[in-house]
Amino acid sequence: APVLYWTRRDFRLSDNPALVAACESGAPVIPVFICDEVVATHGAAPKWRLGLGAEAFGEALSDAGSRLVFRRGKALDVLRALIEETGAVAVHWNRLYDPDSRTRDEAVKSALKADGIAAVSHAGHILFEPWTVETGSGGFYKVYTPFWKAVRGRDPGAVLPPPDIPAPQSWPESDDPADWALASDMRRGAEIVRPYLAVGEEAARGRLGAFMANGIDAYAEARDDLAKDGTSHLSENLTYGEISARACWWAGQRAMDEGKTGAETFLKELVWRDFAYHLVYHTPRITSGNWREEWDAFPWNEDERKAEVKAWKQGRTGMQIVDAAMREMYVTGRMHNRARMLVASYLTKHLMCHWKIGLDWFEDCLVDWDPASNAMGWQWSAGSGPDATPYFRVFNPVTQAEKFDKHGRYRRRWLAETSNPATDTAKSYFDAIPESWGMSASDDYPSEPIMSASEGRKRALDAYENRDF
Ligand code: FAD
Repeated sequence: APVLYWTRRDFRLSDNPALVAACESGAPVIPVFICDEVVATHGAAPKWRLGLGAEAFGEALSDAGSRLVFRRGKALDVLRALIEETGAVAVHWNRLYDPDSRTRDEAVKSALKADGIAAVSHAGHILFEPWTVETGSGGFYKVYTPFWKAVRGRDPGAVLPPPDIPAPQSWPESDDPADWALASDMRRGAEIVRPYLAVGEEAARGRLGAFMANGIDAYAEARDDLAKDGTSHLSENLTYGEISARACWWAGQRAMDEGKTGAETFLKELVWRDFAYHLVYHTPRITSGNWREEWDAFPWNEDERKAEVKAWKQGRTGMQIVDAAMREMYVTGRMHNRARMLVASYLTKHLMCHWKIGLDWFEDCLVDWDPASNAMGWQWSAGSGPDATPYFRVFNPVTQAEKFDKHGRYRRRWLAETSNPATDTAKSYFDAIPESWGMSASDDYPSEPIMSASEGRKRALDAYENRDF
């Protein structure tokens, strides 16, 4: 009897513990991807990008003599139907740790077990599972640095080679994922964002290789320069599991052995990703509400319709560095880490808007959207998170721009109204935005920011001084 391998965010043949376990059972393996209740909740860009990743994985499985069966519906219903159709006796998958995935997976596991099916989950999405890292007193870490110290010497295990995948004699029917129209929420036009993507396991490996060859040495300094392409861009692939965190970790370790100066910084960043999962696992509420609950009493604006929220989303605040970054995200589906911190600070502090507005907009726009890193990043920026920059430490967008976009190249690249002649990247922004925004490249760019660096800072600090907690 066959076994099912249920793929969710692990679109790779190499270092895939659930796939290896399914193959090692000796039975024919039927890989399945389900467009299920969790996928339905994703924002536009992540949903679309997930579909591209699944399709690429389907091709890779076909090349390896297997296939990927695409089905749509509630995960448990689909799995049960497939079990009935194929006579499968087991289902293998790699564990996820965000609240929506856990709710689904726990229900699937107990229902399948009750049906007499072996439902087996495996560790594959992060370096160290959240319950394996404990403080001296047996709790979980709320601060990054001690977390880093606790894991930096650990062995995450060796990278698993791609297995031989035994095929069944006959294949169950599959949907055509193109019929799911996963791009339909992409109002910005998927074809605008597409050139910036690197989809699939081979592309991911290529990115890691290129970064290790050319980027890692200068990474520690270059990673903060907004105009430079100084980081790995691997977040897009890590979030869909097109490469394993473990493969990146060992590449970083090798670079360290070779004396590459940026290697330790890279390993630390990978561990930030693990830390985000550590937090989300131990305090799932981090994805939906203030981690420090006293922040519920803060006078955030929570009204999405306010003019300043619109201006922030559309890159029309008049604060150039913020607007450049918001446009970069709209066109490319990604945003530089330093810029993420800046736009988040401007929204939550200068504009005093709730971080959840930003969290949702990022989830709609980012092709590297990750439920844990996004939540941690926003709560860190807003000051409401566990290991967070305090609310009273307000980034000054003007001096930050002077420091991290010294020659204004990043701003000129994205602000068509201010650059003459308009760059291709800036123009593509105006091609990308929906007509309903009523903007064009010939509009005047706001001559003054809707909130200046100094006034915004003062207003935020006053609100903080007068808070009720
Ligand atoms: P590199 O600098 O090359 O780093 C290597 C890897 O380390 C990254 O691919 C990523 O997996 C991990 N990493 C690096 N920085 C962080 C970090 N601060 N937190 C967690 N992991 C990190 N990252 C996402 O992957 N998805 C998100 O949805 C996301 N939302 C964010 C929201 C805010 C408000 C902030 C401040 C940060 C957010 N980040 C998010 C973290 C970070 O900005 C990105 O991981 C990084 O920009 C990805 O670029 P890179 O792959 O070139 O990173």
